[in-house]
Amino acid sequence: MSNTDFVLAIEDLTVSFDGFKAVDNLTMYIDKNELRVVIGPNGAGKTTVLDLICGKTKSTSGSIKFRNTELTKLSEHEIVRAGVGRKFQTPSIYENLSVYQNLEVSYPKGRGVWGSLFFKRSEAVVSQVKKIAEEIMLTDFLEMEAALLSHGQKQWLEIGMLLMQDPELLMLDEPVAGMSAKERDQTADLLNKICKNRSVIVIEHDMEFVKKIAHKVTVLHQGKILAEGAMDKVQADEKVIEVYLGH
Ligand code: ADP
Ligand code: MG
Repeated sequence: MSNTDFVLAIEDLTVSFDGFKAVDNLTMYIDKNELRVVIGPNGAGKTTVLDLICGKTKSTSGSIKFRNTELTKLSEHEIVRAGVGRKFQTPSIYENLSVYQNLEVSYPKGRGVWGSLFFKRSEAVVSQVKKIAEEIMLTDFLEMEAALLSHGQKQWLEIGMLLMQDPELLMLDEPVAGMSAKERDQTADLLNKICKNRSVIVIEHDMEFVKKIAHKVTVLHQGKILAEGAMDKVQADEKVIEVYLGH
């Protein structure tokens, strides 16, 4: 396949670590404005798939096309610039900066803490910070030091920092781990909103949460797709129950 309407087309993707195939001939397509959830047992290769897409890990073979740009040949920062944002499991925010400053330094023109602290707050930056703060439910916390936020709020702040760059594809690895039930619900609402303008890939274990957000679910097992489709279809799949949901 060459040109596609998919935002992301992963074809025959394999990565092998000393002969062990963590991702094994994976083919998967993500639509525009789709929210895809990837589930599967520990060690299935879920995080590795995100590592491959964002360029942190280089593939052994196969292709990853993001709107017809081949990502496997690009560096991590070229992939970010192409419009792919990725959130890791542990939040990486600047604890000693305010919420406002964390968002401000994430604005594409002012990369890096120092470059951007001395950079004049243009109206475009201010309005983007306010818009994103509203989306991530932190409008009332803009002047607060990030260290003082709750665990859930820190996760939202990091999502906000990624949204500042307006990525066309956003990837989140276990975003609700450690969150309260209320924060999980709020995060589901947040993700349902942000996928209106972009595609989102979420790795998650919490099936109640997955149900609230997934357009489609991909079940990974031993680096391969075990099942894929609507949540209820995947949940009723015998193989999925056996290797994952039954436990
Ligand atoms: P998941 O996120 O589904 O729990 P991972 O993608 O983290 O699984 O890991 C899949 C497998 O690949 C695991 O067996 C893990 O130990 C292995 N793995 C992941 N990254 C590396 C690496 N950089 N080097 C060697 N092995 C790795
Ligand atoms: Mg993982």
